[in-house]
Amino acid sequence: MSSLSNGGKEDTKGEVGASVRSHRRQPELFSREIPPASPKLNCQCTTIPILDIDEQPEWSQTLHDPEPEEQDYAESEKPEQPAKPRVAPPPKAANPVPVPPKPKGPAGPAVSNSLDLQTKGKVDRAVRDVTKTIDDIHGDGNLTKIPIKNSYGKRAQGAFWREQFNNRPIRIDISPNSDHVKLNVAHEIGHLLDYNGIPRGAIHGSNRSFMLDPQFSGWFKAVKESEAIKSIEALKGKTHGEYLKPGAEQTTRWTLDRKHINYLLSENEMWARSYAQYIATKSGDSEMATELDKQRASAYGQVYNSQWTDKDFEPIGKEIDKLFQGLGWIK
Ligand SMILES: [Zn+2]
Repeated sequence: MSSLSNGGKEDTKGEVGASVRSHRRQPELFSREIPPASPKLNCQCTTIPILDIDEQPEWSQTLHDPEPEEQDYAESEKPEQPAKPRVAPPPKAANPVPVPPKPKGPAGPAVSNSLDLQTKGKVDRAVRDVTKTIDDIHGDGNLTKIPIKNSYGKRAQGAFWREQFNNRPIRIDISPNSDHVKLNVAHEIGHLLDYNGIPRGAIHGSNRSFMLDPQFSGWFKAVKESEAIKSIEALKGKTHGEYLKPGAEQTTRWTLDRKHINYLLSENEMWARSYAQYIATKSGDSEMATELDKQRASAYGQVYNSQWTDKDFEPIGKEIDKLFQGLGWIK
């Protein structure tokens, strides 16, 4: 267990070490000297600095309303309202402004077809639920099929592995040791879509600049203008964050980890976190909504603002809708 003061920094090192140890039978995979088979651990996704036991917030007192709040941008999925009494329609304008169609449903191959499930127990149930949920929201382009497995690291709660030199996806690992396994599954699938589903331009496997990629221009602007991301950027100039324990009147200090702040602000991590929240919000899955609430209310969530409030997320969700419509993944 790491202390508050060493936070994400030690977690990162610890998990990479654990991963290397657990894969000694394939040492070449972890050597950066042997292209092109060197994979890169894309992220320590949702690696959360583990609190010392005496600092553990009492999660049970921080739960929010278990019912997910209705989202404006998911208007097309609202149940139909009873028909109102008919009244005479107003006269039509001479040149009506065309209204873009709202998302109706998924299109294209199902994302679940791209995962070879080698999962067990809690992780297996989460993966099956989340992939079914994703299939109901959007399709995908031409994803490579990769395995998804259980991992047993105590700190990294999920990982997406890809080859270092051509970005080819290798596999996804999900740990059952988390109170937000479903959110982690969606987060890692978000990385898979970034690296394999959403086109990366002329050069296969080239790195993506979300800021410059026209497909992501709307998403990038919405994310950068969000309060959550602004607050993470503001942490750069601070040494401590603060969070409120349930029932406490005064905040508790949390020593910030600069490396973890940079990790949270990296473009592909912002994408994966926003994709996970998009799936949680759009699906109306009550378990994912509860996981999201726990994440936001946790000490870590209060300090680092890794996920957005519902209102803060609305413009981002709309941009992801547009992105998937543009890709033909949503009708
Ligand atoms: Zn990630």
